[in-house]
Amino acid sequence: MISEALSKMSVKDYKAVPVVIKEEASVYDAIVTMFLEDVGTLAVVKNKGTLAGVVSRKDLLKAAIGNQNLQDLPVSIIMTRMPNIITCEVDDSLIEVANKLIHYQIDSVPVVRPMDDGYEVIGRITKTTITKAFVELGKEKEV
Ligand code: ADP
Repeated sequence: MISEALSKMSVKDYKAVPVVIKEEASVYDAIVTMFLEDVGTLAVVKNKGTLAGVVSRKDLLKAAIGNQNLQDLPVSIIMTRMPNIITCEVDDSLIEVANKLIHYQIDSVPVVRPMDDGYEVIGRITKTTITKAFVELGKEKEV
């Protein structure tokens, strides 16, 4: 029963809004955005809004150690870049994405829509999303 309920949970029903930053933005801007938006990972996008990479808390910490001028350091230099980004799409099941988080040892994946010239970022699935779904599953079981 649980595995049936799990396979029905879809990315489209659980995805959070995307939090993005332009690739020309500085490491300083990325740190500020991370605090203001209260997230642990930012999607980095090109001018047209297509996915260029992702930057995590530890990427920013690493860049900040020993670097004086974070305002002059573009985030695109330190991000993990495409095509090495693990993504998911709206019709994927949540359990598939949870497996990716475990397998690749990452905290979040961008939800993307394939376009002619790349991938548009339309959301994100994070460890928090999965935890919320897990709690919901527990509630369903009680009734
Ligand atoms: P943190 O580094 O803050 O612990 P993560 O575990 O999510 O956060 O990130 C680990 C590394 O993996 C970082 O270098 C980050 O840029 C990269 N990363 C994060 N998310 C993804 C993703 N969806 N696809 C590929 N690499 C990612």
